Amino acid sequence: MGYARDMLSYGLPRSHVVNFLVDSQFARCIYYDRSLILESKVIFAKMVKHMGNLPLEDLGFSPSLEANFIRDPASLMKLEKPAAEEFPSSRILTSLEGSSFTFPYQNNQTRTVRLKRVIFRSNGVIGRGTMVIRVTCACRHCPRDACDWQAKKLVLKLSFPSATRVSELIFMDRCKQLAQGEHAWVMNHLPDIIWSFDIPFRTDSPQDALSNEFGATYEKRVMRGVIQEELKPLSYLQTAKQCAQVFYDVFQCHHWVWKYPKILHRDISQGNIMVREKNGTIYGVLNDWDLATWLDNKRDGPTSLFRTGTKPYMAHEQQTIHWRGPHRYRHDMESLFYVMVLFACLYSSPKEKVPNFEDKDFRLEEWHRKDDEFLRRAKTTVVHAASFMPPVSPFFIDFLLWLTELQERLALGFVHLMIHIKQAAKQKARQPNTLPTFDMETLGDHFSCEQIAMILHMFDNEQLTTRGLEWQNILEGLSQ
Ligand SMILES: [Zn+2]
Repeated sequence: MGYARDMLSYGLPRSHVVNFLVDSQFARCIYYDRSLILESKVIFAKMVKHMGNLPLEDLGFSPSLEANFIRDPASLMKLEKPAAEEFPSSRILTSLEGSSFTFPYQNNQTRTVRLKRVIFRSNGVIGRGTMVIRVTCACRHCPRDACDWQAKKLVLKLSFPSATRVSELIFMDRCKQLAQGEHAWVMNHLPDIIWSFDIPFRTDSPQDALSNEFGATYEKRVMRGVIQEELKPLSYLQTAKQCAQVFYDVFQCHHWVWKYPKILHRDISQGNIMVREKNGTIYGVLNDWDLATWLDNKRDGPTSLFRTGTKPYMAHEQQTIHWRGPHRYRHDMESLFYVMVLFACLYSSPKEKVPNFEDKDFRLEEWHRKDDEFLRRAKTTVVHAASFMPPVSPFFIDFLLWLTELQERLALGFVHLMIHIKQAAKQKARQPNTLPTFDMETLGDHFSCEQIAMILHMFDNEQLTTRGLEWQNILEGLSQ
């Protein structure tokens, strides 16, 4: 399993891998793709040899990828060791001059990009397996000196989402349509997606066969690519106040997209919060909308079977397989709260993690490694704590007030939810026609967007920048 995970997480972009356990004449074959792991019956070891003759696509390599090693496997042996902070695959793609990726483009054309450095890889077998690679246009089809991508710093994001998932390009196009006039500010906080393409698995692929075999329980995926402007990670930031502004920006952008185009992000994580610098100003960007959903979409396809989000940041109610939703606005806000808690406690600056945790009794660093049950307990403790004092590092000391105030709003909300549930149960027995109501969306107004904005628009006794006219007016009204 570890070996397959490494192949899918660090190797070349591929849709599946097949490993063999060989014992003299006999072997067992284990197949891993992004949705499922399968083990075969015992086969003859001789058959393993035949695997070598399969076309590359059957071995899980994308036919869109063109690299020297495919023609000359010996070239792979000459790689230098990657530096410790690099993804092991960073150099596989950079060191092979001429690696390129070809994908469908408008008017039934194709377009080709040259692959540069790998700047992000998710780790794991099951899941989208997102990979972000810096690219430049290979200009094979561009008119001379007139490449429309030339002036841009671009990345190619490859992932394997459910085949039914809406492409984030569609969400972002809807945002662009509505971001006019006084709403234009929001475009500074959204990714600039230039092109998106899907490459479905062939009808004779193993994925297709498994989908026929297992039906709806097998999550059918596609290979999806997105070409977008490169954004900077949080480590680009210098001061705690800049970090605070970026988080506040993400709150404002997330709220606008929820309120106007009516799209819910559903995957707020540290990795999805990025930075854009434009004319000397720094903007927080909420990136990676490929788990988003239309608010009015009642039927969410088979993906609704699967909880969405990134484990350490999921809302505590979602941290159990029994959770059946709906995913609400406030769940994303709970995620944003955990992003800030973990960032302020686990990092000694935006660039560096706190070096050792042995002497701390607070076990936040385990959130990145532990399972659902651990996270459910840990987060329930945080959310219901009567007094919450996260061990923020000295650099982030001014986040303490934000974090304690946000926790207080959450805690009050859940206390009132509990009171409501108990009252409703009593009343149901006595007067079933007049059940009390409770706003689940805002936890009875205790964890509403207004309450959160009131906390986040001030940092260290100073006002942060409120981007939209609408919130400037609301906050002015609330402060009086
Ligand atoms: Zn070009």
